[in-house]
Amino acid sequence: MKKNIAILGSTGSIGTQALDVVRQHPEDFEVEVLTAFSNAELLIKQALEFKPNAVVIGEKKKYAEVVDALSALPIKVFAGEESVLQIVEMDSIDMVLVAYVGYAGLLPTIKAIEAGKQIALANKEVLVVAGELVTNLAKEKGVNIYPVDSEHSAIMQCLAGEFHNPIEKIYLTASGGPFRDKNIEYLKTVTKAEALKHPNWSMGDKVTIDSASLMNKGLEVIEAKWLFHLKLEQIDVIVHRQSIIHSIVQFEDGSMKAQMGLPDMRLPIQYALSYPQRLKSDFPRFNFMDYPELTFEKPDISKFRNLSLAFDAMHKGGNMPCIMNAANEIAVQAFLADKIKFLEMPDIIERCMQTIHFIAKPLYDDFVQTNNETRIKAKEFLS
Ligand code: NAD
Ligand code: MG
Repeated sequence: MKKNIAILGSTGSIGTQALDVVRQHPEDFEVEVLTAFSNAELLIKQALEFKPNAVVIGEKKKYAEVVDALSALPIKVFAGEESVLQIVEMDSIDMVLVAYVGYAGLLPTIKAIEAGKQIALANKEVLVVAGELVTNLAKEKGVNIYPVDSEHSAIMQCLAGEFHNPIEKIYLTASGGPFRDKNIEYLKTVTKAEALKHPNWSMGDKVTIDSASLMNKGLEVIEAKWLFHLKLEQIDVIVHRQSIIHSIVQFEDGSMKAQMGLPDMRLPIQYALSYPQRLKSDFPRFNFMDYPELTFEKPDISKFRNLSLAFDAMHKGGNMPCIMNAANEIAVQAFLADKIKFLEMPDIIERCMQTIHFIAKPLYDDFVQTNNETRIKAKEFLS
């Protein structure tokens, strides 16, 4: 039976690769909905190819352009982010792939879970901001959240067939980013262009900067906590330059399972869409002779302070990860706009974590409030 998929953020790095997977498996997947924020041109192109039931363009001023271009086809066109919240409830959708970036994905994810849709989650910030709320809701609604993030997909793959066996520990692997061999003096003056050059993966700008600052790994630690019900001391980060081992699970008998493969996001995307089945693919295969060495190192948290800030936020709990995430979103935006330097990012995040009102048991409205408040505060700290 075909799976009907809604892709939120179809024009991004994950979204376009997800469509590549669908393109290769027309007998397994049907695209039901596509949404994009501002790239109307690509959204139109995708809609003409995949003929979804509906599309949403986030920016309302682009509505007419999309309607015009798709007028010959029976595709419903909507504009504005609020339309996404209704669209995800459509009866014909089986699974929602959330491939937005940042806090923006939180409410659409909640709405999709409330409507009982299975979730493929790329948008890790959703679990960073409100992991407890989202995973409790999913449990209540009988919804599975399938991770798309390669490390978490690796863990899910290692856990296949291990349902009753508790996890002792997980090791999240990190490439270390483009600055792993640079010293702190060098980090003070790195440019946006250098930070955007990831050694192993090609991704959207925000996650690429997060990878360079190791905030990405910090976000992933929190993501792992909620996905796999782990305590802080059960999660370790290990720098593995080659990005071949995507993560490792250690069980109570000391046995460790690792999932490996070439760095290609289409694999974890496809696994999330087709779980528990593995679909045939022609993605390039790993060759041992190309990798005579796989190496492992400790991350340097004195150089990459974001990683320890994320552990602090997770330890503190409540709305602290939400504060950290919002501050990071503003800091990354500012760095990408050449308004601040690379090492000012952790400064701003830390100041927000110290000043924004802490809430131990936040409800949804508290996250909205915390996110807004932190963004305003972080912007003040920029100047
Ligand atoms: P991207 O910037 O390439 O794409 C983001 C998509 O979301 C675009 O389609 C955009 O139109 C849409 N979008 C952005 N802001 C929006 C908003 N405010 N409202 C509605 N739509 C919005 O990002 P990406 O690299 O594809 O990453 C998506 C998510 O997946 C991120 O959370 C990232 O951390 C995670 N992720 C990405 C990769 C990767 O290889 N790209 C790997 C692992 C995890
Ligand atoms: Mg990852």
